[in-house]
Amino acid sequence: MERIAVFPGSFDPFTTGHESIVKRFLPLFDKIIIAIGVNSHKNSFFPLEKRKEWIRSAFQNYPHIIVDDFTGLTIDYCHKVGAKYILRGLRTTTDLEFEKAIAQMNKSMADDIETLFILPTPELSAINSTIIRDIVRNGGDASRFVPEGTDLKL
Ligand code: ADP
Repeated sequence: MERIAVFPGSFDPFTTGHESIVKRFLPLFDKIIIAIGVNSHKNSFFPLEKRKEWIRSAFQNYPHIIVDDFTGLTIDYCHKVGAKYILRGLRTTTDLEFEKAIAQMNKSMADDIETLFILPTPELSAINSTIIRDIVRNGGDASRFVPEGTDLKL
């Protein structure tokens, strides 16, 4: 059976921190789906199509990494695509508290799906999509925080 994992997030934008997590998890799976969660109540800064295009470009030489988007619950999306694992990164204790609650609620709703966590490497752990959006809004250069090929143009 194929080992499929979903890495869900808003990826607004996808950063070198996200990129590193996917690459580090990759040896464990046959396929990783990077899935952009689309929330109808929350407007994104970068358009969905741009976010997908940048992630695809970052992994153009990785046939086992797929980019998709979804609405609704992550566990429902996992069932739809046959994924048994949800991947998440833990940067801070705030991340830990938040992620713990979501993972435990997901586990009680879908016992067949496991959430796996990885710690970022120290040099990437401060990278944060919210701060990148602020840099872009204020005309700064955030290119070092995003994968090559991401132009951060709206
Ligand atoms: P959310 O899903 O909360 O909207 P993001 O799209 O920003 O969050 O991130 C998706 C996942 O990537 C989350 O698990 C988050 O903790 C993790 N993550 C974000 N930035 C980094 C980073 N620099 N290093 C490691 N993990 C990160």
